[in-house]
Amino acid sequence: MKWLASELHTHTIHSDGKQTLLELTRGAKLLGFECIALTDHNTMSGLQGKEEIEQETGIAILPGMEWTTFHGHMVTVGLDSFVDWRKAEPDTIDADVAKVHKQGGVAGLAHPFRIGTPVCTGCFWEFKIRDWNAFDYIEVWSTTFAPVKLDNQRAFALWTRLLNEGVRIAATSGRDWHRQEETKDPLSVTYLGLKEEKHSLQEAAVNALREGRVAVTIGPLVTMEVHGKENGAVYELGSAVPVGLPEDKESYAIHVHFSFSVRQGIWQLPDQRYRLVVNSSEGILSEMRIEAEDKHYEIGLDLDEKRPAWIRAELWGTVSGVRALVAFTNAIYFDKEATE
Ligand SMILES: [Zn+2]
Ligand SMILES: [Zn+2]
Repeated sequence: MKWLASELHTHTIHSDGKQTLLELTRGAKLLGFECIALTDHNTMSGLQGKEEIEQETGIAILPGMEWTTFHGHMVTVGLDSFVDWRKAEPDTIDADVAKVHKQGGVAGLAHPFRIGTPVCTGCFWEFKIRDWNAFDYIEVWSTTFAPVKLDNQRAFALWTRLLNEGVRIAATSGRDWHRQEETKDPLSVTYLGLKEEKHSLQEAAVNALREGRVAVTIGPLVTMEVHGKENGAVYELGSAVPVGLPEDKESYAIHVHFSFSVRQGIWQLPDQRYRLVVNSSEGILSEMRIEAEDKHYEIGLDLDEKRPAWIRAELWGTVSGVRALVAFTNAIYFDKEATE
């Protein structure tokens, strides 16, 4: 699988950004990104010249828009023309998301716990969601040095709570990038797992978001699969391990892959041993110390004891003297026997 280094939340001078699309895209290339989503506030006019800029820089630009309303900000990606955001009401956001899907796009909550009005108009999420499954993702990490920020920690906790409630929803990062500026803060990357070769890159990237083939990091790339030992099946991020037959003797292993060499020289975290945690709806399944090297680990998974609803890999370390979540994968789910 190709993991596409993406920045999914950006602005240009077509909304409140201080950069043109060309400046933004060149800046993204210098930071080792391969893809950006342009998500200006309530407009898609900034996409003018997209093809030429993609050709010059080699960076894929996904069309997007940030719905900017008094009740919250919602990022939409993958639509060629926008769905009208002006009638978005606190009670009917689910219907708006259905329209985004109809046009082939995906929708996610942007920075749901950022301080809202009057500091940042509508930044705090107040839309009433009736069906969380209607949404594709939550931007759990926003801005720079995201994992240590309290509003992001609340968003991450919301994602975990939803997973525990049985909602299958992806988690992403987005810098909410407005201008070209130097920063010493760690930058986060959302890696999208591209699968379909027959599709365009845009379709493959949007499918990855929709299906949760997503890994987020401020350092190394961490991905995970579940392997069926007997039948050879491989379950990727975002997919579900089916319920086996009662006589099924299938045993499973979790594979966690690390690439520390990815985006070589661009991200800098202090030399250290990290802690790999496989977390789940049933709590921590496995924990180990790992060295900072490109490697793959295999962890046995006993489903007879207690079948989790979901698992995810987390990498913990020390960043600027603070213990922080450095990287996490999206979830792999486990179907449950239907109870009568
Ligand atoms: Zn916003
Ligand atoms: Zn924004």
